Amino acid sequence: MVVKSDSAFVLSVHPYRETSATVALFTLGEGLKRAVAKGARRPKSKLTAALSPLNEVTVQFYESERGSMATLAEADLLRSALPLAIKLPDPFLLHYLPEAVLTFVQEGESSPVLYRLLRACLDGLERGLPPLQVKAYFDFWLLRSNGTLPPWRRCSCGAPATHWDPRALKARCARHAPGAPPFPDGLLDLLAAFRSRPLGEVPPPDAAPDLYRWLLGTFCDLQTHFLGKPLKSYALNRP
Ligand SMILES: [Zn+2]
Repeated sequence: MVVKSDSAFVLSVHPYRETSATVALFTLGEGLKRAVAKGARRPKSKLTAALSPLNEVTVQFYESERGSMATLAEADLLRSALPLAIKLPDPFLLHYLPEAVLTFVQEGESSPVLYRLLRACLDGLERGLPPLQVKAYFDFWLLRSNGTLPPWRRCSCGAPATHWDPRALKARCARHAPGAPPFPDGLLDLLAAFRSRPLGEVPPPDAAPDLYRWLLGTFCDLQTHFLGKPLKSYALNRP
């Protein structure tokens, strides 16, 4: 039996049997990992403090047989998400971010880009960046890494794209988008900024509120289309 050590974000924690819990972890080395945390709900368990959604932890776990859930041996807190929970006026992102990672990240497949993205988003929120800016940036990279973000610059005919077809969820040239609305002003510049700049340096939502609203709606449509249904956190609240 090999004990593995990794850093991870806690995505979800659910009660399991009398005193244990099942946890979903986003590990740096192996992507999504589900594990049983034995005794985690006992009053004196050292695991309790570490296992809360969006905490970053170092974990030790082992897998006894292929396909079975891992067992979490230890979890030590690296960064607590508690200050963020206290600071954020609207808890939407605290539900949305772990759910989106849990839904889009593959089991057993490392995604260091998304791991760094989640860290950067949580850091940005702690530094007081607008939640809409963080969500749009997060969605852009999540969809891009998943292959769900369509090409924006060119229509499938090769001509420069200027319109958005909301039914096909594709960027089109004017000739291939009859009746579809043109891109909102500044769209390609904002997407280029998302692609090339760190989160803290992209234009903030108050510089382009309508554009951000359009983009967040479109990212949500793309996710919903890919998954076949909206993420549950949208039902709770939406920024
Ligand atoms: Zn075209």
